[in-house]
Amino acid sequence: MTDLKQPARVRFAPSPTGHMHLGSARTALYDYLIARQTGGTFILRIEDTDTKRYVPEAEEELIKGLKWLGIDYDEGPDKGGPYGPYRQSERKEIYAKYAEQLVESGHAFYCFCTPDHLAKVREAQQANKESLHYDGTCREIPLEDARKRIAAGEKYVIRFKMPKTGSTTVHDHLRGYITVENKVLDDSVLVKSDGWALYHLAAMVDDYLMKITHVIRGSEWLPSLPLHTQIIRAFGWPEPTFIHLSVFLKPSGKGKMSKRETADAMKDGHSIFVKDLEELGYVPEGVVNWTALMGWSYDDHTEFFSLQDLVEKFSIDHLNPSPAAINFTKLDYFNGLHIRNLSDEDLANRVKPFLEAAGYKPSLDTLIKIAPILKERLPTLDDVVDMAGFFFKSEISYAAEELVAKGLEKGQCAQLLKQMLQILSSLGGINKEQAGEPLRQLVEQSGFSAGQVFGILRVAVTGQKVSPPLFESMEVIGKDIVLNRIQQAIKLLD
Ligand code: GLU
Repeated sequence: MTDLKQPARVRFAPSPTGHMHLGSARTALYDYLIARQTGGTFILRIEDTDTKRYVPEAEEELIKGLKWLGIDYDEGPDKGGPYGPYRQSERKEIYAKYAEQLVESGHAFYCFCTPDHLAKVREAQQANKESLHYDGTCREIPLEDARKRIAAGEKYVIRFKMPKTGSTTVHDHLRGYITVENKVLDDSVLVKSDGWALYHLAAMVDDYLMKITHVIRGSEWLPSLPLHTQIIRAFGWPEPTFIHLSVFLKPSGKGKMSKRETADAMKDGHSIFVKDLEELGYVPEGVVNWTALMGWSYDDHTEFFSLQDLVEKFSIDHLNPSPAAINFTKLDYFNGLHIRNLSDEDLANRVKPFLEAAGYKPSLDTLIKIAPILKERLPTLDDVVDMAGFFFKSEISYAAEELVAKGLEKGQCAQLLKQMLQILSSLGGINKEQAGEPLRQLVEQSGFSAGQVFGILRVAVTGQKVSPPLFESMEVIGKDIVLNRIQQAIKLLD
C-alpha cells in the first residue's frame, strides 16, 4: 500500500463512449483531491481502443466537463506530459511489446481458436451449466510451433495463462483482502486478433509506465481485480493501491438508472450527465459538493464543502463501499447552498446567459442590484428566468383575473390598488423602510390578509404571482414604473 504522505500519481481513465456521467465526475474528483492533497499529479488518460463504442465528441465533452467542475489535471492528451501519449489508441506498439514479454516469460500464450470453435465450447458449457471459460485448447502449444503458425498467416489472439491451481489474494482499499480460487479464473484475451490490446492489459501497462500509485475506478472492475493483479505480478511490477468506488443506484435505491429513468429525470430538471447539469442551471460548486458526498463523508454533520475544503478534508479512509442512491433533492439543496455563497457579481454573471437565452437583454448592473434578493430563492440558475425576467421587460402582461386575490371581489381589488397607488405616490421613495409601514396600516384597515393585499400588488407590479421580495423588487423597478403599472392594473380591473 502506498503512503498518502507521498505525492500520489493518479489517473482518470474514461472510455469516450458517451456522455460524461456522475460516476465519472466522482472518480475524477476523488483522483484530483488525492493529487492536490499530496502535492501529487493528476493524469487524464483516454481509453479509446474500443472502436465499436467510440463516440468522437466524447473526449471533448469529458475535457469540458472537467473544466466546468474545476477539476484540472496536470498531464493529458491536450496537455502532454512526460509519460505520454495519453490516448491509448496512440500506444498500440507499447502494448504489443509488453504482451510479447508475457508470452516469452510463459505468462501468456498465442491462441488460434476460431470463433466457430469458441462458440461450440460455449454452447457445451452452457448445456452442462458450467460457468463460461476458455477450454485451454491452445495453452500448451510450444512457442516455436505457435510462431510458425503466425508466420504462415494464421489468425491469433494473445491470452493470459492463468494458473490452474492455487488461489489469488488481492487487496482493495475499501474492502480489504479478497481471495479467489484460480480455477474459477479465465485465460482472458489480452490482445485481439486485430492487434489491439484489451483494457486488462492496456490499463495495467499504462498504470505501470505512468507510475500510478492509486487506481480509483468503478466497482464494476472489482471482479477483474484478480486477473489484473495476476498480470501485474507476472511482470513483477509494484501493485498500486486499488480503490473500487461504490455504485450509484437510482433514487429509489433499487437497481441502476435505466435509459428511461434517466430521460424522466431530465424532464424533472435533473440529470446524471454533467453537461445537462450545467444546462439545467446547476453550479459546479453544488455538483462537486453533492458528488463528493456520494460515497464519502467527513463526519456525521458537516455538509458544506468547497473544492478547497475537500482538498483539505478528503480521505480515502472515509470512503464508503456501499451503493449510494442518487438523491436529486440533495442536489437541489447543495446547489442552493452554493448559490447563496456566491458574491453578487459572480451570481449576476452566471445568471445573465440564462436570461439572454430566454430572449431578455439584462444589464449586469441591474443583475448585481437584484442578486441579494435572488440568492435566497434560486434553486438553480435557470430559475432566474421565471423569477426575475420581469425586471427586464418593458411591458408586463397577465390576465385580469390574476389580480383578483382569493376571497375578494374584483371591485375590492381595484379599490385596494387605488389606495396603494395613493399611498405610494405620496411617498418620497418606495423601499421597505418608507413604504412598509403605511402599506401595512392599509392591510390592517382593510380587514384582509397581508397575503391577499400584497398578492394583488405583486401581480400588478411584476406580472407574476411569485417573485423575489416585493419591496426590494419595486425598488429595483423604480417608482415611476411601479406607479404606472398600478394604474394599468386598475384600468384592467375597471
Ligand atoms: N476505461 C475504463 C472505464 O471507463 C476505466 C477504468 C479504470 O479507471 O481503470 O470504465
